[in-house]
Amino acid sequence: MTEKRRILSGIRPTGKLHLGNYLGALRNWVDLQNDGGYECFYFIADWHALTSDYNRTEEIRENRVDIVIDWLAAGLDPKRSTLFVQSAVMEHAELFVLLCMITPLSWLERNPTYKEMKHELVDRDLSTFGFLGYPVLQAADIIMYKAYGVPVGVDQLPHVELTREIARRFNFLYREIFPVPEPLLTTVPKLLGTDGRKMSKSYDNAIYLSERGKELRRKIESMFTDPRRQRKSDPGRPEVCNVFAFHNIYSPPAEIAQIDEDCRRAAIGCVQCKKRLADRIEEGLRPIHDRQDYYRSNIREVHDIIADGNERARRVARATMAEVRDAIRI
Ligand code: SF4
Repeated sequence: MTEKRRILSGIRPTGKLHLGNYLGALRNWVDLQNDGGYECFYFIADWHALTSDYNRTEEIRENRVDIVIDWLAAGLDPKRSTLFVQSAVMEHAELFVLLCMITPLSWLERNPTYKEMKHELVDRDLSTFGFLGYPVLQAADIIMYKAYGVPVGVDQLPHVELTREIARRFNFLYREIFPVPEPLLTTVPKLLGTDGRKMSKSYDNAIYLSERGKELRRKIESMFTDPRRQRKSDPGRPEVCNVFAFHNIYSPPAEIAQIDEDCRRAAIGCVQCKKRLADRIEEGLRPIHDRQDYYRSNIREVHDIIADGNERARRVARATMAEVRDAIRI
């Protein structure tokens, strides 16, 4: 039997998951788990949430549990994937400290996301050591598990590159312990929030994985469409319409083709098109909603799953750190 290749990925517990998170990452995590060729470690990156939001911690604990419920509902199976919380595995902090010692400051200062986020998130205090150093914490998270690969979107590539450099530097300075992890590029469908900007909790434009009924319909009704289509009699351009992008994921091919045609010849109005989308999304999310309901009423089970995942992660982390201490002679 060929050995499974280990992969690792995480998410910050900044709020319950939205469709952008699901379609951009989580769905792929489930596929990787079901592929059978990978040993998957998925974690809640709660220390990472502090790197940009150290003064907004009141919801972190609750968000951790909500996210694990969403993971389980979306199809992550705790028997096949290790689901854990970063802060429950103290070894991450120890490896972070050790990697900080060998990471040149210039590698962090040239990180494009660092500059971009400082520019974009003007309401946060990002002038901290923690924020500058978060890619080192990420490197510790990944190499701790000797991961073969990291599923990422294209925007995360510079971080994986930095992790690779840090792993190589450690191996060169002390001893060959860490495999240099590969980025496993995830194709992310181009879906925007209801207002046409990137789907994000902070823009208040997200459709959540837990939304259903009136709440879901109201969000879909408010979605931006083709801006040139002012009246129902104006022909539309599905290729620039965010509603159509969602139809492409949730509707069957014959319906997509019909909407495409009807939109172009103004035979369907946006209101009707959105109603059909709401039906399709609700239908598509129903199995996830049923499982969310199950786990919400069996919350003890969720806590047990997290505790078990933490223990499994700790076992691997302890073994790695024993090797690391020995290599550094500390
Ligand atoms: S009919 Fe549908 S696809 Fe066409 S512009 Fe309106 S919402 Fe978009």
